[in-house]
Amino acid sequence: MSCIFCLIAEKQIPSQCVYESDNIIAFRDLNPQAPVHILVVPKMHITSMNDINSENSGVVAEIFEAINKIAESEGIKESGYRVISNCGDDGCQSVKHLHFHLLGGRKLSETLS
Ligand code: IMP
Repeated sequence: MSCIFCLIAEKQIPSQCVYESDNIIAFRDLNPQAPVHILVVPKMHITSMNDINSENSGVVAEIFEAINKIAESEGIKESGYRVISNCGDDGCQSVKHLHFHLLGGRKLSETLS
């Protein structure tokens, strides 16, 4: 069965895309937790942070470069923001395709738990 973020990357289901390159897509979260809540995703299927390795880690560097650009275009670069990647069951990862939440646009909670 296809993964929902693979389907978004393949444009088989729509998303509110805010950034795209050959290897990455970034789109607004369906259930935003902050005024800016964007998911930054590799187009290739990587299940979670546990699956980052020397062969695919380049796309992770690209993701962080993209986050820098998206923070600027969303107007939150100077005020600040948070990047989170949930991993596995205890990390409450619900979509099993590596993704980074970019959250900002308000003062975020001081607690990370
Ligand atoms: P996780 O809990 O860290 O795996 O985050 C998955 C995120 O994907 C959640 O914040 C969901 O709201 C979001 N999400 C799930 N399906 C879609 C979708 O089709 N479009 C945009 N966001 C989605």
